[in-house]
Amino acid sequence: MKNIVTRFAPSPTGRLHLGHAFSALLAHDYARQHDGTFLLRIEDIDLGRKRPEFVDGIIEDLIWLGLEPDGEIVYQSERFPLYRDALSRLKDRGLAYPCFCTRSDIAQEIAASAEAPHGPDGPLYPGTCRTLAPDQAARRLEAEPHAWRLDVARAAAMAGSLYWEDDHTEVQAEPERFGDVVLARKDAPTSYHLAVTVDDADQGVTDVVRGRDLFAATDIHRLLQALLELPTPRYRHHPLLTDASGQRLAKRHGARTLADLRASGADPAELVANLRAGTLPAGYSAAEA
Ligand code: GLU
Repeated sequence: MKNIVTRFAPSPTGRLHLGHAFSALLAHDYARQHDGTFLLRIEDIDLGRKRPEFVDGIIEDLIWLGLEPDGEIVYQSERFPLYRDALSRLKDRGLAYPCFCTRSDIAQEIAASAEAPHGPDGPLYPGTCRTLAPDQAARRLEAEPHAWRLDVARAAAMAGSLYWEDDHTEVQAEPERFGDVVLARKDAPTSYHLAVTVDDADQGVTDVVRGRDLFAATDIHRLLQALLELPTPRYRHHPLLTDASGQRLAKRHGARTLADLRASGADPAELVANLRAGTLPAGYSAAEA
């Protein structure tokens, strides 16, 4: 088997919590068990939300836990040319179109339509800009802020049936249920989906170990891999940790951070040993989604 490469890919928009530690630990241990490589990728495409102190915090927390990454740390904000290149390949094949809609345009369009199909991430984009006449789109491109969207029906038809492997189980990708996802945002030359797909391939990631919250998104990543002729890694989506009220740990819900645990005198070796043994600190449990 090829050398195993895993990665931990947090977004620097807050301090890490126990859920991140669990995810990083699983990716780290999988690499170590196979004499492989554990990479750290900072997913900082959101230039307005990223903060340097959170990047430092991520590195500090991983070192505190004893989960030091191998090799250079990769920053997505330094890789915009790679994403632009991938996007232009999709444009050249007629699979991406510019979208000038604002959030409120989309909300209004959805409210006015008789049926508003929902996907894993909420209501689907109604396709307003997909049918713009090419000359009109070209004129607006010069003057208006725009995102780029994937024409998912066309792309899926071109790619044919696609599968990926989750923990040794074959999963059939159904990317159409996401609708025309954003490939490049108005404020960044990429989206999460495009950047993660390009980077996992570019960094030679063989095994993506990440939370169940990203299980469905893998359908889109698999489609992008097919369109961009990139290899498909194996996936392992792990359960998410929840707090005492059953709520999934999240920055926005004020989950206790690793920095808080450290400040209150937690022993990192003990914490990691407990996480490995599946023993979570009091008040935490693991949920499927
Ligand atoms: N950056 C994503 C997050 O912090 C994770 C991306 C991934 O593992 O694919 O939720």
